[in-house]
Parts: sequence; structure tokens; C-alpha cells
Amino acid sequence: MLSIDNKAADKTGYLYGPVPSRRLGRSLGVDIVPVKVCTLDCIYCQVGRTTEKTIERKNYTDIEAVLAELKKRCAAGLKADFITISGSGEPTLHSRLGELIDGIRKITDIPVALITNGTLLYRADVRADCAKADVVLPSLDAGDEQIFQKINRPHNDISIEKLISGLCAFRNEYSGQIWLEVFLVEDVNTDSEQIAKIRDVIGRISPDKIQLNTAVRPTTEPNVKKVDIEKLQFIASQLGEKCEVVADFLPRHYDEYLKGKTEDVLSMLKRRPCTIEDICQGLNISHNEALKYITHLTKQSIIDSEKKGGAIFFKANPALKE
Ligand code: SF4
Repeated sequence: MLSIDNKAADKTGYLYGPVPSRRLGRSLGVDIVPVKVCTLDCIYCQVGRTTEKTIERKNYTDIEAVLAELKKRCAAGLKADFITISGSGEPTLHSRLGELIDGIRKITDIPVALITNGTLLYRADVRADCAKADVVLPSLDAGDEQIFQKINRPHNDISIEKLISGLCAFRNEYSGQIWLEVFLVEDVNTDSEQIAKIRDVIGRISPDKIQLNTAVRPTTEPNVKKVDIEKLQFIASQLGEKCEVVADFLPRHYDEYLKGKTEDVLSMLKRRPCTIEDICQGLNISHNEALKYITHLTKQSIIDSEKKGGAIFFKANPALKE
């Protein structure tokens, strides 16, 4: 029997969304590696500092539990453009990634996307697992070792050349779509010399799309500067016709999504007091996501909380009830 190597394996709620995604339309997220286990510690990460920087693949979460949750969602009429494996850490660190994708295929025809930093693609077993996905979205933020160290702060055994050779090997073996994300940070990887180096590396990898992103949301390091849209478009034009800017898409749609979900939470709490777990189950969202709405509504005094039988219940401010 396979052992589970992390306490987080006990948790339920491996799926989140569907959320509108800049790159994948309506995307149901699958989170299989706990916060914050990664091969890198990117300065722009939105999840926070890497607490376990590793290149060791492990059985981090119970794949059968993830698949059972997905089965339930599909039976309830799930509609999504992609099932996207990504989450709170680097998903290729999960030793049963290939089995997970095989399992998803048995449950649904919805295409599978995999968001990875690409650093483990030098390994044949990781490439074989990734090749099971319909679309793979790896990252490349630097054209040389110095900038790679500065922006991605990799594990000691990972170098830019290892990353690039893994991406090239994967391209040679994989017939699906590769959409390469380049995350740009002002004053770090945006000067013309660095962009020329990145362009050369992209030429070696030959992805189907190149997607430019920048720091539109809060980042791990506070001094990470967003690149403005005009400059992103200029850099996109330098990287060729397969290149597009995806950075400004999310905030617009994301804001609408957040507004809608906040209203959903509020209408639940107007009907009856609920715990965070009730909200997660009722709206099919993760604990972290529910917490975000609760915090927002509490700050505005639209809801408040009370302790009952050892649990915290949230309820709408009585003045708001119809
Ligand atoms: S690879 Fe992704 S999860 Fe890992 S540190 Fe970078 S942005 Fe965060």
C-alpha cells in the first residue's frame, strides 16, 4: 500500500472552482501538492515563500480521494473547459501524477491541463506523466543562470540549463500543446539583453504559444514591480507571433468572479448561520477561498460571527436580511 507523505493528505477539498482563468477559460483546479512545496521559490509567487524546497517526488495527497471528489462533481453536472492540475506547490513533485491523469480520463472527457514550472522535465518519468495531459503550461522567466537565480531562486540541483534541456526533451516527445509562460518583473528580466536571451531559448524549445504575465496580484517579495501593458505588448512583439499578453485578462474577469462569489456567500448567510466548512461544501470552493470572502464581508461589517458548540458560525448582519 502506498504511504501518504504529508499531513495535508488528511484534508478534503482538493478541487476548487471552476474559476475563470486567463489562459484556460472555465477551469476546475486540482490541488495535489501542499503549501508550499516547490522546486523553486519565485520572488513573484502568489502563494508565499517556499517552506519545503525539494526535488524529491513523493505521494503527497491521496489520489483516490481526489478522484472520488471529482466523480461527485461530475455526477452533479460539472461544466468546465479544463480540469487544471496546479495548486499550492509544484504538481510534478507528486509521484502519482500520471495515475491521477489516467484516473481523470476514466471519469470525464473534459481536457486536462497541467501548470508546472517545468524544472523536473529533465526526468524521463516526469515527462511521461506530463505527456498524459492535453495541454502543458510550463514556465521560463530567464535566459541565463544569473537571472534564473534572481527571479526563481531554485533548489541547488536545478540550473537554467537543466530546465531548458528538460523542456526541449519534452517538446521532442510530446505531441500535445505547450503554452510557455514568461513572467516578467520590471528591472529584473525586462532589459533588451535578457529578452534577446529568452527569445533564443524559446527558439530552442519551440512551444505552441508564449504567454506573457506580470505581477498583477500581491507577490511574495514586496518589491516585485509590475510591467506596464505597453511594455508587455512591445516585448510580445519581439518574441514573435506566437506570443500574447495574458496579464491584464485576469483582473477584469477575476473581479467579476469575486463579486459573484461574495454575493453567493452572503445569500447563504442570509438564510442561516454557516461554518466555513458549510460554505465550502455549499459553494464547492476551497477553505482558503471561503476564508477570503468571509474576511472581506467581516471587514465591511456585513456579516459577523458567533461561537456555538466549539464551532464558529458566520451570519449576515440582521439589518441586511429581507
Ligand atoms: S514555481 Fe510556482 S508555486 Fe513554485 S515558487 Fe514559483 S510561482 Fe510559486
